[in-house]
Amino acid sequence: MQENFSLKAYNTFGVNAKARYFTEVNSVEELIENLKLSNSQTLPLLFLGGGSNVLFTKDFEGLVIQLNLKGISEEMINENEVLVTANAGENWHEFVQFCLNKNYGGLENLSLIPGNVGTSPMQNIGAYGTEIKDVFVSCKVLNLETLEVEEFDLNKCRFGYRDSIFKQEGKGKYVILEVTFRLTRENHIIKTEYGAIKTELENLGIQNPTIQDVSKAVINIRQSKLPDPKIIGNAGSFFKNPTIPLAQFEDLKLKFENIQGYPNGDFVKVPAGWLIEQCGWKGKQIGNVASHQLQSLVIINATGNATGKEIFDFSTMIIDSVKEKFGIELEREVNMI
Ligand SMILES: Cc1cc2nc3c(=O)[nH]c(=O)nc-3n(C[C@H](O)[C@H](O)[C@H](O)COP(=O)(O)OP(=O)(O)OC[C@H]3O[C@@H](n4cnc5c(N)ncnc54)[C@H](O)[C@@H]3O)c2cc1C
Repeated sequence: MQENFSLKAYNTFGVNAKARYFTEVNSVEELIENLKLSNSQTLPLLFLGGGSNVLFTKDFEGLVIQLNLKGISEEMINENEVLVTANAGENWHEFVQFCLNKNYGGLENLSLIPGNVGTSPMQNIGAYGTEIKDVFVSCKVLNLETLEVEEFDLNKCRFGYRDSIFKQEGKGKYVILEVTFRLTRENHIIKTEYGAIKTELENLGIQNPTIQDVSKAVINIRQSKLPDPKIIGNAGSFFKNPTIPLAQFEDLKLKFENIQGYPNGDFVKVPAGWLIEQCGWKGKQIGNVASHQLQSLVIINATGNATGKEIFDFSTMIIDSVKEKFGIELEREVNMI
């Protein structure tokens, strides 16, 4: 266990916050040992995967546990399907590539999302028309109160848009140890309707794409649109796309005829990036923090020296101006620590 440990290399924003204590665990036994220790000292706890969805707004006065649980296993369940289970500390993108190398389909649209497998259920990670709930079977979690292992199936996880029980009533109560997915071995379902996948496949000269081709197209699009956190600190989309009542959307349409929206029953999902751009934030920099010039939904540590507080304050300014112009309250997607 290390004391006064800098978390700069452990969060993709590159914020130089400190943890009072920091440790890395390589097995469930080590995890339980550390939990017992922190319970005996009543230390606040924080679990960290890849640090790609957190903003440290201040130093963390407790124990940060980095989950380094590794291992992948497979179980063929019929001619067309396989269950693949990965431990929490497996890197997400490497796991997706592992599955693609075996020609297991279902995760290809989620290529290149940063972070670890164990965090993927937290916000039901999603991209390019797929969410993990589409292929999720179950996850094993450690109940932090009882220190017993429990299993959560699809229903119990209550997945929603960038949401799950682990961000709601289960928040702070469980640590996810492993996740199981049901993937296809043949008869893959190819999803190319979303975003620019079709255009990218055309650019690559591909007419009948395989799951590996879809992954390649998604990687190309992501690399052209999103800043690489290894080069410029960020945590991907900072805000969720808000869902507003249809009546409110229709009122807004009278005032802002170009407003975009995706209807869903009596509600409409509005792209947060568009709202932010309309408020003049795209590419705007204040001090060390900026909204990315290609993607206003992404807040960046523009100079590499931003504090978490500066990034948080910048995000509050964006929330306030969107609220003032459109009457819509943006919600942060990134976890504030
Ligand atoms: C460039 C970029 C692009 C991105 N694109 C997308 C995208 O397309 N779609 C998308 O959904 N997300 C995206 N993200 C966000 C992020 O990659 C995902 O949310 C990812 O799942 C976070 O994983 P992590 O391991 O880095 O989580 P961390 O940041 O380490 O943790 C996130 C939260 O989960 C908790 N936590 C971590 N591990 C566990 C565990 N095992 N058990 C319980 N709690 C845990 C942490 O305490 C924290 O509150 C992007 C981020 C970046 C930087």
